[in-house]
Amino acid sequence: MSHDARTTATPALRIIPREQHVISRKNISKAALRVLYRLNEAGYQAYLVGGAVRDLLLGGHPKDFDVATNATPDEVKKLFRNSRLIGRRFRLAHVVYGPEIIEVATFRGTGEEEGDGDRHIVDGRIVRDNVWGSIEEDAIRRDFRVNALYYDISDFSVRDYVGGMQDVENRVLHLIGDPATRYREDPVRMLRAVRLAAKLNFRIDAAAAAPFDELGPLLADAAPARLFDESLKLFLAGHGLKSFHMLEQTGLLKYMFPATARALKRGDEALRALVEQGLANTDARVAEGKSVTPAFLFAVLLWGEVRDLAHTWITKGVEPNAAWERAATHVVAEQCQRVAIPRRFTLTMEEIWALQPRFEQVQRKRVFRLMAHPRFRAAFDFLLLRAAESPSIRELGQWWEHAQQLPHETLAAALAGSSAAPGGSAEPALPKPRKRRRRKPASKAGKSDPA
Ligand code: ATP
Ligand code: MG
Repeated sequence: MSHDARTTATPALRIIPREQHVISRKNISKAALRVLYRLNEAGYQAYLVGGAVRDLLLGGHPKDFDVATNATPDEVKKLFRNSRLIGRRFRLAHVVYGPEIIEVATFRGTGEEEGDGDRHIVDGRIVRDNVWGSIEEDAIRRDFRVNALYYDISDFSVRDYVGGMQDVENRVLHLIGDPATRYREDPVRMLRAVRLAAKLNFRIDAAAAAPFDELGPLLADAAPARLFDESLKLFLAGHGLKSFHMLEQTGLLKYMFPATARALKRGDEALRALVEQGLANTDARVAEGKSVTPAFLFAVLLWGEVRDLAHTWITKGVEPNAAWERAATHVVAEQCQRVAIPRRFTLTMEEIWALQPRFEQVQRKRVFRLMAHPRFRAAFDFLLLRAAESPSIRELGQWWEHAQQLPHETLAAALAGSSAAPGGSAEPALPKPRKRRRRKPASKAGKSDPA
């Protein structure tokens, strides 16, 4: 007889006392601690749960802290003046301390028993309206064992109902319950498996990875807005290159980025190099604490398809500008059926792509016009990535790099009389960039700087 974790009434509990784990209150945010203590003092159970516990056990510094409690949302609301209830189907409380928000969720039942809430399919997920449960039920409705650990504020122990602690030690991701069932309930869990494995440097247990081939297509029913959020966590959180490789290896990339998967499948090694470099640069920026923009990265991921489509149409006689525009529109429209990239980002992506052919036009007027374009910087960074495509594009990148370092007049003089044809084969030779001359302060027009 086999019972899976979901049907087992009370999973075995292991309590890991304070002396036997590394979680210290020093690494828990003040706001989270206040919420935990206040709930506890009011007589409720209060636990830190989910990613924060997992990351603390691994020595990481979690950004957000989630709290689980047996207090209902209304009770939480009464206890914290600085709280608001959110969520339509499943209500949660957000307790707000300045910029920090602590999410407080009431233990949720698995809802396997009849008559305790209606099942709904929302965005391809099976959900129920508010069904409160016990902590055991709350544990087994979570996705991975490592995500179902509870840090108990009353005695600083960790409660483990599903074997999560051992998985943390073995650096492995097991789903709770039957993998195929859990993916059918929520296909995005497949992407979460890949994302967490990439982020934590864990392996995905064989049983958890086995259904990917068969159930990957269910991702087509996932809400595109949710997949957008997931894609940011996959690619813009510092482990993008690893996520990308794992998505490819697991065969899941094609459900999120069909055009990217298609273009790479054509065996375009230059494109692969471009995508990998783009992801590596993004990871490096995240590591340095610099800002990263989704638009640039999505432009990188989809470039191969846009370029190939544009070239196909140009060969068929479509006017180049129109061909590029049509290719961009087409690829964006297809992509947004899967991953809902907000308009403000797709606009930037389209601009970055549209500016690429303009780098090949190095006549004087056009050069200055392009440099003044608000997207010049992003488009130029993109051109540098494209160095992988051909030696002539690498040279073009170097030309523009150099051109930007020249003083305006020097560049203007070098470009004067140049009649380089579009196609970029004959960029005018540029003089060596000089050190910028120091301007005499305010000597020009009568601009008077207040002293
Ligand atoms: P991250 O480090 O990216 O924040 P996380 O595990 O905290 O990882 P969240 O999306 O913040 O991910 O979710 C918090 C917790 O909620 C998870 O640890 C898990 O216990 C539970 N959870 C999240 N998504 C699901 C899901 N799709 N199915 C079941 N449980 C989930
Ligand atoms: Mg989290």
